[in-house]
Amino acid sequence: MDFHVLIVEDEEDIARLIARTLEKEGFRTSVVRNLSEAQNFLARKEPDLIVLDLMLPDGDGLELCKELRFRKGKEIPVVVVTAKGEEVDRILGFEMGADDYIVKPFSPRELLLRIKAILRRLQKPKEPPQTLRFDFLEIDPQKVEVRVEGKPVRLTRTEFNLLLALAEARGKVLSREVLLDKVWGYTFEGYARTVDTHIRRLRKKLGPAAEFVETVWGIGYRFRS
Ligand code: CA
Repeated sequence: MDFHVLIVEDEEDIARLIARTLEKEGFRTSVVRNLSEAQNFLARKEPDLIVLDLMLPDGDGLELCKELRFRKGKEIPVVVVTAKGEEVDRILGFEMGADDYIVKPFSPRELLLRIKAILRRLQKPKEPPQTLRFDFLEIDPQKVEVRVEGKPVRLTRTEFNLLLALAEARGKVLSREVLLDKVWGYTFEGYARTVDTHIRRLRKKLGPAAEFVETVWGIGYRFRS
């Protein structure tokens, strides 16, 4: 496994712990301590994933998430490392779109699990999947694009995968556990809330197509087709 992870973290102990954990698993790592170092790094190199602290000496780590969305080249997933009290909604939020987050203090093992799950998710499927069409909603897995009434809707990768998982199972109720397994690839504490948060975001962005995503009380979610 030859993955390169950029660690953006100003607390040296934490940066070292993350780097050591990843290196033990065969990852290559680079560590930078603030936003501007991260920007310089990304102007020269393209890591496979970024572990991003939010409270950096020269600003908010989410700024970097925003910049990454407008960056050309391959998609670089971001795992946010946050101190307690940061709002989950803001981290996984609208324009930002971090792929996952973990709350300090965290176990290196848990971080490792999440990183591996994200990298696994990004690996391409063998067959080019077909575009799914439901009335005025189109889901194009090849371009990772969703259109509502012909207009593209910008979703984060996680929101897209969530919608796709529901649409592919259309008519069938998927529990939060099943969605978690399909979309995130692992389970963690507080998962129900995470799934609900993403569904809420997804619905908001889908506008009139939000009606396709139904809540099945006490069980989970279903795509109405
Ligand atoms: Ca910090």
